[in-house]
Amino acid sequence: MRELFRKRRMWRPQRELKDSYDVVIIGGGSHGLAAAYYLQKEHGIRDVAVLEKRYIGSGAAGRNTTILRSNYKTVEGARFYDQSVKLYEGLSQELDFNLLFSQCGHLTLAHSDRAMFVMANRAEVNRLCGIDSRVIDPDEVRRLAPAMRVDRSATYPIMGALYHPPGGIIRHDAVVWGLARGADRGGVELHQNTEVTGLERSNGRVTAVNTNRGRIKAGVVLCCTAGWSTLICEMAGVELPISTYILQACVTEALKPLLDVVIVSSQMHTYISQTDRGEFLLGSEIEPWTTYRMQGTLNFLQEVCRHALELFPQLERARILRSWAGLCDLTPDYSPILGKTEAENFHISAGWGTYGFKAAPIVGKTLAQLVATGETPELIAPFALERFYGDRLVSELAAAAVSH
Ligand SMILES: Cc1cc2nc3c(=O)[nH]c(=O)nc-3n(C[C@H](O)[C@H](O)[C@H](O)COP(=O)(O)OP(=O)(O)OC[C@H]3O[C@@H](n4cnc5c(N)ncnc54)[C@H](O)[C@@H]3O)c2cc1C
Repeated sequence: MRELFRKRRMWRPQRELKDSYDVVIIGGGSHGLAAAYYLQKEHGIRDVAVLEKRYIGSGAAGRNTTILRSNYKTVEGARFYDQSVKLYEGLSQELDFNLLFSQCGHLTLAHSDRAMFVMANRAEVNRLCGIDSRVIDPDEVRRLAPAMRVDRSATYPIMGALYHPPGGIIRHDAVVWGLARGADRGGVELHQNTEVTGLERSNGRVTAVNTNRGRIKAGVVLCCTAGWSTLICEMAGVELPISTYILQACVTEALKPLLDVVIVSSQMHTYISQTDRGEFLLGSEIEPWTTYRMQGTLNFLQEVCRHALELFPQLERARILRSWAGLCDLTPDYSPILGKTEAENFHISAGWGTYGFKAAPIVGKTLAQLVATGETPELIAPFALERFYGDRLVSELAAAAVSH
């Protein structure tokens, strides 16, 4: 029986922290775990510790609404997210763990002439990058989502949509567990309940990481703490142009299958999908105040239900099962900050706002490459922190945020 239990364990029991590691990764979310996974898999770097202050996936990785897509507005963004979706397509097989990735298609609704113009622009950029994305008319929207109300008398009439067939949803906790198990099997140490409390910096390098379980020396430190990034980076003397907000979501009780595409409306500040379990998953925009308190609000529930019912009046009697909130780290241009900082051996993955889960595999792969080679991969060069000092923003305004 004990043997069976040992075989079934997701990862090895936690051991004592060593005095030093080649690489210390702060944050056991999807990005930190993906970086750990690709470090051992693609570069044979195994002397790695992932430090997580709570449990694996307790941050935004375990709270997001799991939308994956690559139909972004800029060439830099579209190319980057496209690589991530492609990695996700093979990840279940690679990790030998079913991530339940359903490429059911993604519809961004347009409710005005201006929105149709923006969608047409995005479709052009997407197609130039080889991404399947096109503008469709209300009849095609109706065919793809027959249960949705598509009529001209609605408060926000649907004039068309940006249709992105490869977009879809995935099981977020499976992604986190699969990556953690993969990293552990490759020799990476996972340390839960291990909070980073300080970073020591001298001669332009981070030399040691202080935790609630002791001090560790580190060759390279990766900060993958999403909503907490500014706090950790401050410990290293690195300032980020990021503000942290909460984003909320909720699910209804399970219903019969009604919807098999992801619906997003930036103008209505809502997005809707139906999970494998039948629950309607509803989300909205970030709250307009900065905070680290992950507490839900009644206002969110009222607003999200109002908009969802405009699109799906048949949900009128559906009961909300639960709601939750998570932290989102937003940059001024709605693009992430990736790679090197002014501290020589301290690299970051931050500024993910409401849309970073879809990027986890490509973040892990490119950060691992940066650690292994010391060179910034070309794909992430546009997202360097220094772009804010050189006026080289990568604006994803109107294509990120509520669109996820
Ligand atoms: C409600 C909601 C819906 C979302 N929907 C989508 C979506 O549909 N699609 C999408 O692509 N993105 C979505 N996002 C955004 C996405 O979840 C995040 O951008 C992404 O998960 C961030 O990367 P991560 O998984 O590594 O972060 P996290 O999971 O937040 O990982 C950071 C980890 O760092 C740990 N940490 C913090 N401080 C310390 C410390 N001092 N010491 C040690 N560990 C520390 C935290 O505990 C946490 O586990 C959504 C977010 C929310 C909140």
